[in-house]
Amino acid sequence: MESVILSKVKCLINDLHCCNSCLGRQFGNLLSGLSNAKRGEALKIMVLMEWEYSHRLSTVEPPGSSSLFSEDFEIGQLSIQRFYPGVQSSNSSCDICQGILSFQMINNLATEALQSLADYEFSTFLVGSQFPPSIVDKEDTIRSTYNLEFGESIKSEFNREIGKRLQELIGQATVDFKTPDIVVTFDLNDYSIRIKSNPLFILGKYKKLKRGIPQSKWFCRKCRGKGCEYCNNTGKMYQESVEEFISGPFLSAANGISTKFHGAGREDIDARMLGTGRPFVLEISEPKKRNLDLEKLEGEINEKAIEKIEIGLEGFTNRSKVRELKTRSSRNAKAYRARVSLESPVILGESDKLSIENEFSDILIQQRTPLRVVHRRADKIRTRKIHVFQIEKIEGQQLTIYIVCEGGLYVKELISGDEGRTQPSLSKRLNTNTVVTQLDVINVFDNKDSL
Ligand SMILES: [Zn+2]
Ligand SMILES: [Zn+2]
Repeated sequence: MESVILSKVKCLINDLHCCNSCLGRQFGNLLSGLSNAKRGEALKIMVLMEWEYSHRLSTVEPPGSSSLFSEDFEIGQLSIQRFYPGVQSSNSSCDICQGILSFQMINNLATEALQSLADYEFSTFLVGSQFPPSIVDKEDTIRSTYNLEFGESIKSEFNREIGKRLQELIGQATVDFKTPDIVVTFDLNDYSIRIKSNPLFILGKYKKLKRGIPQSKWFCRKCRGKGCEYCNNTGKMYQESVEEFISGPFLSAANGISTKFHGAGREDIDARMLGTGRPFVLEISEPKKRNLDLEKLEGEINEKAIEKIEIGLEGFTNRSKVRELKTRSSRNAKAYRARVSLESPVILGESDKLSIENEFSDILIQQRTPLRVVHRRADKIRTRKIHVFQIEKIEGQQLTIYIVCEGGLYVKELISGDEGRTQPSLSKRLNTNTVVTQLDVINVFDNKDSL
C-alpha cells in the first residue's frame, strides 16, 4: 500500500506547480528541526526516486509534474536530464506563493527593510506581514481539497523566514515577540514595507520650585492652541510647564514625533512640588534614537529650567509603569505644607490645637468634586483618608499646617470646605472662612508602608 503522505503529494504536485516551501508547508506541523523548504525537497526526492525506479525497470515518460522541475529543485533537473537531456526547468512561479517564499524574494525584501531601518536605533524587532486575500484563500482551498491536516499558514512561514534573514543581515538585534523596539510589516499586496518604532518610556521624578507652572502644557481656552490675541499668539495659557521643560530636549534627542507626560497625580499650578519629587514617565512616540544619554539630558533640562523645576531620571521603563503611576501610585500618600489664612481671628490654645489635630488625623474625608474643577470633571463624591494633621505654627490669623493624606485628596477644599461640599473641613471646625494661601507638596511616598 502506498504511503498516505506520498499519495497526497502526488495529487498535489500533479495539479499545481509548487515550490519546495509551499509543498513542505502543507506538512509543516510534522517533524521539527527542519524548514518547510527541506520538507518539500524531501517529498519531491521521494517522488522522483520512485519515478527513476520505474524508469530503470522499463522506460517511462519524464514525470508530468512541473513541480519536479521547479527552479529551487536542482536534483529534479539533474536526474531527469540524465535520461531526457532536453528537459528544461520551469520558469513559472509557484502557484501558491507566487514566488514570495523564494530565497531571492525573501532576500530582496529583507535587504530593502534593512535600508529603511538604517535611521533607527534598536536592539529588538518583530516582523509582521499582510498577504493578499487571494493567496490565503487559495491555500485554504488546497488544504480542504487534498485533506491536508498538518499544514502551517503561509503567513507564519513568511514571517519566520524573513525574520531569520533580517536578523542575519542586521547582526546584533534579536527577535522579541512581546515588546519589540521596532515592528517591520511587509505588505505583500504591493510589496511595501512599513516600519513602526514603539514608544520609549523614561522614568523620573520632578520637583517644582516655583509657583505658577502647570504640570502639563495647557492650550489656550479661546483658540485651543491655534494662537490668538488672548494668548499672545502662543496658543497656550501658560508659557512654561513641567511637561514642556522635560519633553523638548527628549523629543529632539530621540528624534521622535511626539511625547506624552504621565505624572503620578498632579499638584495645583500655584503649589510647589518639593521634597523627593513626584514620579513621572515620559513617553516618546516613534523614536529613531533609543540610546539616549540620560545623565546629559538631565543636566541639560535642569540647567534650562533652573530655579523653576528640577528633575532626577531613574532610567528606561515600560508601559506597565504608566499604568502603575495612573492607578496605584496616584493613591499613594502625599505630604503637604499649607499656609492658611482665617477671615476672623480665632483664639487657639494648646488644648484646642491638640483636639483639632486629633479630630483631623486618621479620618476619612468626603469630597464632592470641587467647584473649581467641576466644569471639567464629573460631579461625584470622593472619599480619601487623612493620616496626619498637624498645626505647626499659629501667627495671628495665619496658620501653617502639615498634612499627610491619601493621594487625590483635595487639600484646599479640606481647609475651605468648598461651600459645604467637603466634609468635615477646617473652616467649619473653626467657624470662620479659611483659605489656603500657599501650598507645597513636600513628599510623594512610594507606598503606604513608607509613612
Ligand atoms: Zn511557493
Ligand atoms: Zn489663544
